[in-house]
Amino acid sequence: MSLSISSRARNIAPSVTLAIDARAKELRANGQDVIGFGVGEPDFPTPAHICDAAREALDLGLTKYTPSAGTKELRKAICEKLRRDNDMTYTYGDIIVSNGAKHSIYNILQCILDQGDEVLIPTPCWVSYPEMVRMAGGVPIFVPSGEENNFIPTGKAIASRVTRRTKAIILTSPSNPNGSVWEKNQLQFVADLAISHPFYVISDEIYEKLIYDGREHFSIAQLGEDIKAHTFIVNGMSKAYAMTGWRIGYTAGPRDVINAMTSYQSQSTSNPNAIAQYAALKALQGDQTCVKEMVAEFEQRRNVICERINAIEGLSCRKPQGAFYVMMNIGEIMSRRYHGRTIESSLDFAELLLADKQVAVVPGIAFEAEGFCRLSYATSLENINKGLDRIEDFVRNLR
Ligand code: PMP
Ligand code: GLU
Repeated sequence: MSLSISSRARNIAPSVTLAIDARAKELRANGQDVIGFGVGEPDFPTPAHICDAAREALDLGLTKYTPSAGTKELRKAICEKLRRDNDMTYTYGDIIVSNGAKHSIYNILQCILDQGDEVLIPTPCWVSYPEMVRMAGGVPIFVPSGEENNFIPTGKAIASRVTRRTKAIILTSPSNPNGSVWEKNQLQFVADLAISHPFYVISDEIYEKLIYDGREHFSIAQLGEDIKAHTFIVNGMSKAYAMTGWRIGYTAGPRDVINAMTSYQSQSTSNPNAIAQYAALKALQGDQTCVKEMVAEFEQRRNVICERINAIEGLSCRKPQGAFYVMMNIGEIMSRRYHGRTIESSLDFAELLLADKQVAVVPGIAFEAEGFCRLSYATSLENINKGLDRIEDFVRNLR
């Protein structure tokens, strides 16, 4: 037997978003003035009262293992949050806390998929979904959508891809990478399909709080007890509370799968960090003004970045309704040349822009969306304006 990496591991592509962030940080460390529209990470510090809670956890000696699924206190606070914000009833046994929402989704897929099971993924989609489905032996089935439909696939496109192997659909609202918010009637269509087939719904609600123009978040699980019984609500602390590095995410869902996920987690990673769990508890129970302040700032940045993109000849974007990403349409400038090199793909655009103008964006191909680049506006207005000046200059020099 030869010593080699498993075929499972060999076939996994690294996260493009994290890779671009690492590259931008490396260039910055080398003294380059890089503007990062790459990774989706709030630029705000974690609010002070949450940091204080972590210090308090240390003082209280909360430095030991907790139950694998997370402390009872935190799981109860998550139930209270789901009641308060989403008008849904769960008890703490329906909840598992994991190392970030990414880990939550990974655990769900590991616990519901058998080899060859299919998972519907509306595209453009977040980079990690297809790989996580593959890691669990499943097959991602992409359901394409376009800018003309606000990046939400039609009911017909979804229904036509359902087969007897369909085990789940992943919904993300507000969405990464396009910021779209699903309407109630669109969610109802998916719910009816999921109930009659049946298949699970993995509802990634990590951007729940980042929603603009006075809109309110609505979860597919709110449509009734039948669909709630088929749905996993995934959420976490990273985006709403600027807590990306703390690694706390959670799942609320069908008790039998939550129990399987708890066993799975107990044998793989054990409980998520005890100190971070205590800080998350205090974040959920504490004053929510910090969230409102960050959302107001994101909304203002969204307005500015969209205006600036749409003012550049050859580029355009739809105004996203939530999250902190915008999909910049680069279709019109494809096949133009920059200093002798032809732009043939979103990757060419992103590479040239980073090399020549020190602006990091993520090529749409990473999200199954060629012809676009994703810009994260989780950065200051000053950076947004500076970055867009450079993009404007870059596009002006295309021939
Ligand atoms: N879902 C989506 C759509 C995301 O963009 C992210 C961002 N990383 C996550 C889940 C995971 O977030 P985390 O693991 O930091 O909780
Ligand atoms: N979700 C963020 C993004 O899409 C963070 C990076 C990642 O986890 O992939 O940029």
